[in-house]
Amino acid sequence: MDDKSNVCDTYRRKNAIVSSEEDTDNFTGKRINYLYKSHRNFDLDQTESGKYRDSICEGDAPIYPLNPSRDHEDPQPEDDSEDRCQKSPTECRCNALLYVFGGYIVGLLMVLIWYYRNPQEACKDLNRKWIFIVLLALLLIILVRRRAARCIAVLCLSSCSSNLFRIVVIALAFLVAFSGPVKNIIHNTCILANTLTCEQNVLIQALMLMQRIINDPSHSVEEAFKTTLGEVSRLMNKLDKLLLNLERPIAHIHAIFKTCTDWLFLQKDHYDYKMGTPYNRCLKAGNLSIAHCKSEFGEGQKECCKLKLFLWFCDSLKTYKSFFNDNIQWSQMVIRDIFQRLQLCFIKIRFIFITTISFDHSLKFNSTDPFPSNKDHINVQDVKEELEAQRYKIHLVNLWLNLIIFILLIIIIYQSVCFWFRYLSNDNYENFYITEAFEDYDDQYHQIMGLRALPLSNCEDNRYVKISSMRLLSKEFDTFYRSAIFLVITGIQLFCICFVDYSLYSMLTLMSYHGHMIEDVKPPAYTKIVINCGGKIGDMLRDLVQAFEPKTCKMNTQRCLPTPGYPKYLRYVWILLLYLLAWFLVFWEPYGLRQRHCVMTYFYPEESRRRSHDLHDIILKNRKSLFKARCEEARLLNSFESTHEFESFATWLNSRLNWYGLTLYLNRFKQNLQCRCLSCCTVSFIGRCCTLCNKPLNKCDNVPCTWPSCRGIYCKMCFQESNNKCVLCCPEIDDELLEPENSSGNSEADFCSIDNKDPQPRDKIT
Ligand SMILES: [Zn+2]
Ligand SMILES: [Zn+2]
Repeated sequence: MDDKSNVCDTYRRKNAIVSSEEDTDNFTGKRINYLYKSHRNFDLDQTESGKYRDSICEGDAPIYPLNPSRDHEDPQPEDDSEDRCQKSPTECRCNALLYVFGGYIVGLLMVLIWYYRNPQEACKDLNRKWIFIVLLALLLIILVRRRAARCIAVLCLSSCSSNLFRIVVIALAFLVAFSGPVKNIIHNTCILANTLTCEQNVLIQALMLMQRIINDPSHSVEEAFKTTLGEVSRLMNKLDKLLLNLERPIAHIHAIFKTCTDWLFLQKDHYDYKMGTPYNRCLKAGNLSIAHCKSEFGEGQKECCKLKLFLWFCDSLKTYKSFFNDNIQWSQMVIRDIFQRLQLCFIKIRFIFITTISFDHSLKFNSTDPFPSNKDHINVQDVKEELEAQRYKIHLVNLWLNLIIFILLIIIIYQSVCFWFRYLSNDNYENFYITEAFEDYDDQYHQIMGLRALPLSNCEDNRYVKISSMRLLSKEFDTFYRSAIFLVITGIQLFCICFVDYSLYSMLTLMSYHGHMIEDVKPPAYTKIVINCGGKIGDMLRDLVQAFEPKTCKMNTQRCLPTPGYPKYLRYVWILLLYLLAWFLVFWEPYGLRQRHCVMTYFYPEESRRRSHDLHDIILKNRKSLFKARCEEARLLNSFESTHEFESFATWLNSRLNWYGLTLYLNRFKQNLQCRCLSCCTVSFIGRCCTLCNKPLNKCDNVPCTWPSCRGIYCKMCFQESNNKCVLCCPEIDDELLEPENSSGNSEADFCSIDNKDPQPRDKIT
């Protein structure tokens, strides 16, 4: 036995060391120890710790898996160095963490120096991802080395069921909505605005034309003339070509003719120069013949030698200056005249078609400018700029949502830290869950003191709940209702966004479809002059007729038709999934938040044990006063009940849901007779709740007050607790409840026996 106690002592000492070591993580350790010692009954504490020791030493499953087992799991190398290190373990731990940090930072610096020497690599590698990995590694080091950090990290994870995380999910859904459907809505609105602007411009153009024709007929006449003149000039060009074709051979003939005459003149001059005049030529010929005659017949008096004869003969030639006729010059003049006349004719023909018309009209009958100006048109650019401004606002909303999500995540971490701190520093903080530790402690307490806190009374069931139970407390239900309303509202908003997006898309598609079905505006049929055949003249006439055709302005309405942006259905699915997740989180919230207590129990079993002891004490202490408070509350509520029918119905529904959850749970896990009775009665609720504990009553379990016009109705348990009297109409119940001796329940008697031991009377405390 001595050996055993020694082993246990060493165990206890080690335990104390480890617990104090852990508590250096938070400064609540000393306070916790102090509270623990001052609060607890010394005897109980001794027996209790003895029991733990026994159970541990004998190899039984320990009631609380204390720190050593967990510490072995943690990779904490300082456990080995504990013996070597003569300093306090806290310092060792701090130093080890510092060494690890130091090593990490030195390694980081070395890497940075290497990158400093290789700037090209640095440009490639040192980016956001790198920083993220470095920070993540740092976080992991802290998580591995610090239990508090690990605990807070797990708490953050279990806080994912809190309403803040739900808001994050909804914010994410809105972010998706803004990046998808809302963006598409704005895009389609832009398209719609552009379409409307374009169509309005087309309309304005058409109307402007109409107005000009109506208000200013001379203008249309002018335009008709102008087009006619255009046609005429075109005609002229054609004619000019024709004339040129005529002129060219004539000019050619003229040129050849001229060359011929020039050549003839040249020949004549040459001949004249060589031969001389006909008279001289005649005389020369005479002289030659005389000389010939003389040589033949000698110097006789021959007839042929007489010069006088030749002189006579040649004398008639004196009047002729040349051998050629003079008429050649005359004929040349005639031909020149002919060609000049032809040229003149052509010029005259051309002159007929050269026309210039200038119009003079003073349009002062209308104050507005009849000509289309830019002012009258809707500027598409302005519309675009305005819509761009709207898009910029969406960017701001996006940024804002991102910021909100970031802040919410920070708040979740902050809340986890707060929860961790308050859990460890304040024993009453959210201390209303019945844990396994509580049940074990209750069993021990029963064995030693003969008094039990479990099972809880119906009134206490409204306040405390088993941590693994499906049943919800009323405050948990309240948050559930609020969250549900919040989600309904946001759901409507998200639905509206998606609906508007799809509606706008389908409207534009419909517009586009029907727009393409309709043909462009065409002028009505009218009688036309049709010229068939006619060769060149026919062509000219056709052109003229064309010039006088009414001018129709073509309005292309199809270019204004919208091509809407296709809605992103995948985003819809994402939004739906996020929304469903938010709803799931609503149902999971109370159970998820309870998990935080389980997490704390895992990381800090000592503190959790102490809290369960405190809760046990509180339940035992307040058992009597709680019932009395409920009685008073029931009386006050009774006096207002008639005016709050709806509220009473809501209360009944609420409590029914509460109790139904409990019943289900009990049926599944425990198979005792009372519960089976409860389960068989779940279908036969009578539609009223117990006046005291709000439990929905059934046919098997209800005791109505016999006094007429009294609304009191009780469950069997509450009725027994109130000494089989109605708390609403029985005046002496107060005295009975105040007097602990009169109480009939066993538990009260036991409780009073403790009170007698205690120097302070419990009634006064409570
Ligand atoms: Zn009751
Ligand atoms: Zn009554």
